[in-house]
Amino acid sequence: MHTVPKLLTLLARLHQFLLPRSLVGRVFTLFALSMLLFVGTGLGMFYRHQFLQHIEETQDAAATLVEVASQAVEDSAVIGDYDTVKRTLSTMIVQSPFHSATFIDLDGGVIRVEAPFEGSLTPAPAWMTHRVAGALFDVNRVVSVGGKDYGVLRLTFDERKLAAQMWTLLLQSAGLAAVALLVSLALARYLLARWLENLGRLRFYGDEGAAGAGLDAALSADAPLEIREAIQAVNRSAASMRDQYGQRIATLMNSLVQHKSALDQAAIVCEVDREGRITAVNEQFVRHTGYTREDLIGAELARVGAPLVHASRAWSPSHSVWNGEVAVPSRDGERQWHRTVVPIFDGAGQVEKYICIDFDITERKEFEDAIVHNAKRQGLLARLGRKALEAGPLQELFEMATQLACEGIGVRHAAVFGFDADLGTAALQAGAGFPPGAAGAPFPHIPGPDSSEYLARWGRTLLGPGAAGSSIEVFIVCHDRLYGALSVYAPLARTFQEDEDGFLNGLANILATAIEREDAKNRLTYLAQYDALTGLPNRHRLSACLEGAIADAAGGGHCAGVMFIDLDRFKSVNDMMGHSVGDELLAQASRRLQDCARPDDVVARLGGDEFAVVLPRLASAIEAETIARCIVDALARPFLLQGQQIFVSASVGIAGYPHDGQDAATLLKSADTAMYSAKNSGRNNFRFFEAAMHANAARRLQLETDLHLALERGEFELHYQPKLRLGSGAVSGFEALLRWRHPERGLVSPLDFIAILEDTGLILPVGEWVIAEVCRQLGVWSETLENVPPVAINLSARQLAHAGLPDTVRAIVAAAGIDPRLLEFELTESMLMADPEAAVAILSNLKAQGMRLSVDDFGTGYSSLAYLKRFPLDALKIDRTFVRDLPTDGDDAAITKAVISLAHSLNLKVVAEGVETIGQVRVLEAYQCDEIQGYYVSRPLPAGAAAALLVERAVVAA
Ligand code: C2E
Ligand code: CA
Ligand code: CA
Repeated sequence: MHTVPKLLTLLARLHQFLLPRSLVGRVFTLFALSMLLFVGTGLGMFYRHQFLQHIEETQDAAATLVEVASQAVEDSAVIGDYDTVKRTLSTMIVQSPFHSATFIDLDGGVIRVEAPFEGSLTPAPAWMTHRVAGALFDVNRVVSVGGKDYGVLRLTFDERKLAAQMWTLLLQSAGLAAVALLVSLALARYLLARWLENLGRLRFYGDEGAAGAGLDAALSADAPLEIREAIQAVNRSAASMRDQYGQRIATLMNSLVQHKSALDQAAIVCEVDREGRITAVNEQFVRHTGYTREDLIGAELARVGAPLVHASRAWSPSHSVWNGEVAVPSRDGERQWHRTVVPIFDGAGQVEKYICIDFDITERKEFEDAIVHNAKRQGLLARLGRKALEAGPLQELFEMATQLACEGIGVRHAAVFGFDADLGTAALQAGAGFPPGAAGAPFPHIPGPDSSEYLARWGRTLLGPGAAGSSIEVFIVCHDRLYGALSVYAPLARTFQEDEDGFLNGLANILATAIEREDAKNRLTYLAQYDALTGLPNRHRLSACLEGAIADAAGGGHCAGVMFIDLDRFKSVNDMMGHSVGDELLAQASRRLQDCARPDDVVARLGGDEFAVVLPRLASAIEAETIARCIVDALARPFLLQGQQIFVSASVGIAGYPHDGQDAATLLKSADTAMYSAKNSGRNNFRFFEAAMHANAARRLQLETDLHLALERGEFELHYQPKLRLGSGAVSGFEALLRWRHPERGLVSPLDFIAILEDTGLILPVGEWVIAEVCRQLGVWSETLENVPPVAINLSARQLAHAGLPDTVRAIVAAAGIDPRLLEFELTESMLMADPEAAVAILSNLKAQGMRLSVDDFGTGYSSLAYLKRFPLDALKIDRTFVRDLPTDGDDAAITKAVISLAHSLNLKVVAEGVETIGQVRVLEAYQCDEIQGYYVSRPLPAGAAAALLVERAVVAA
């Protein structure tokens, strides 16, 4: 089934294999095959025609011959002359187509003649002989004469001879045909080759085309039309391609030229010959090296640039591209180039020359170096920073700083100097590479423009000029002072770069921060133990000292003591004259205390106006008493503050170990209690601790506790003390005085608890209650009585300091619905002086509401009358102490008189307090005092009694 396609493929293969490759070959083969077929067919047909004709002719000739022979034989046979027969036959057979002639007589005699063999003929092949034999029939003729038969003549054809004749003819005609064929083939081959030769020329089209010659010229005159046209077409397309390629090549060349000039702009370029010598350099090359072109041409490239990295191989002529960084000597120092050397090959693959392209990377390298250096220095700074964070000893930090400075700058000597501004000296604190004994020795140093010169000179002195050829100093500046400097020394004269300076400054800053922190730490330690104002040990340190004294006394079996000192009236000074004066007073007082103390005693400030003195190793109570007396006297002497003489006194309490306490806390408490007792007993003195004092202290504590509950429990009440108009004797007003009805102790005096209320702040709610209660009472009286006089309320400092006071008062008055003019407020001088501006504002407000204002206890403070003009006051109450000795004490009388007349000149009404006798009344009347208040008129009365008084007596209504 598959054989047919297989065969076809095989044929196709064969055809491909046999098919000539050239056109001439193919056309010629085709022609030759056609001719062969034609000649072969012609020859075949010719042969066939000749063959048949020859056979026919031979057959005819044989018939004729047999006739002739039979004639001759008849004659002879009749006579029996067989010899003649035989001769006749022999003669006849020569040149005949027969092989043999036989005459068989009737008797069976046979005469046989055979033709001689003709050797000139080429014997035919057997098949031909056979064929000829097949086509001829032997000739038999009966020889009869006169109707009588004498025998039979048989002629046998010589088929070999006939075939040879035919074969010879065939060979001859075939030979002829072959000659003719060969001649025609030769002619055809020649002509074909000639005509197609033009096509062959196309092969050289490239060369001829490039040469610019047209192909037309090469065409032979007898070129066939098709080829002529084809070649012209090729010619045309070649011309257009030439144009196109020409343009492309021109563009390419142009761009190449531009590339080259761009490269020339950007890079340093040179050409190098096969041997490695520079043959051409561009402008950049000349400019960057600073050499002339003549210097460079002919130089060995390997000499112009040694590899930067020592391990890497230098360039030498080779077949491969070379890349590397090279150091190039130039007129202004060594430059660093990145170099690429590219071999250029010729057609034969041999190196023709080299193109060397360089880029100057000096700046980039320097930049990279700077970054590396910088990173290293940042690392060093971080190390110092970490060390600084550990907050170890400064000395270690200084030493590390000098080592890091050496490492970062690349030198062997660095130092940290500390300055002493007071002495004008500097000293080496730490040094790297300095001789061991160098530290500590001070040398003259004056901070300022020459500062560095001093340090440099000292460095040279210590290190010798060989090690300190040049130096750089950066200062260590803490926020409030110039601490010192960090210096670095280089052996040779050199300039230090900006980044080096920056690095050293970084180190110096870290040192400064560490020093500041150390300072702050010391300061904190100091502050934790000492009082900032007086420089005395504080309460904390005092405890430690006292404990030390106790331990010492316990060990030695002797006594120790502690004194508690409180300045009397310090608060008034502070309030009136301001804190700076108060501070100055404390400072002066502390110096006086120190003057009184023994050398080993420790004077401490406990806070505010409280001081203490630790008295170690007390020989006797007398010794303590002497010191205490000294202190009381010293503090009683006037202080000169802002040009004024100020009197303060001190109350001193003394407690002794082991009697008054076994430990520091108890001892201090005992001394405090004793001091309190001294204060209570009139101030300006001292007291030794007594066990009973503790009871007083305990009582005060109990009072405090009870007071907290008093308001809720309704234990407070008000008593009203009347004031009398001196001229008419009418009741001009009341003063509301607070009373505490204690469940166990009965009525407690305000002298015992007002101070506690003030201290604890309870005075604010209680004071508010007083105002409300007065308003309520006024409301009740206004409804029941005809004439109601104003009621004065005592205000405390705390209340006045409270900005909300006027609003509180307004609200209470509005709620009670009473006439605000029925209210009066009493304030002391010191309250007014504490914050005059605020006081003026508050008083103006109260005044605007219609209330009256008066100064209480006038004369006990320090204010001058003129000063009081600033406040919107109505009245002035002369303190009891002036009134007390009035008729007898001339001084008091004079003061009272003067105060009254001055007050009047300021339009102030004058009330005398604590009037107890008719004598006092007389004097006051004489001095034209306006009103009086005191036991002479009435003790403070409960509300009911006060109302009764209003009914009995004439009243000056508000
Ligand atoms: P003060 O304002 O000087 O009040 C007058 C004090 O003198 C009253 O004492 C009164 O009883 C007393 N007294 C009156 N006449 C005479 C006299 O002829 N001879 C003597 N020796 N004393 C006389 P009290 O009531 O014990 O008040 C003492 C202080 O308590 C008052 O002095 C006042 O400063 C304060 N105080 C009383 N009540 C209040 C109040 O409600 N609020 C505030 N903040 N302080 C008050
Ligand atoms: Ca008063
Ligand atoms: Ca008073």
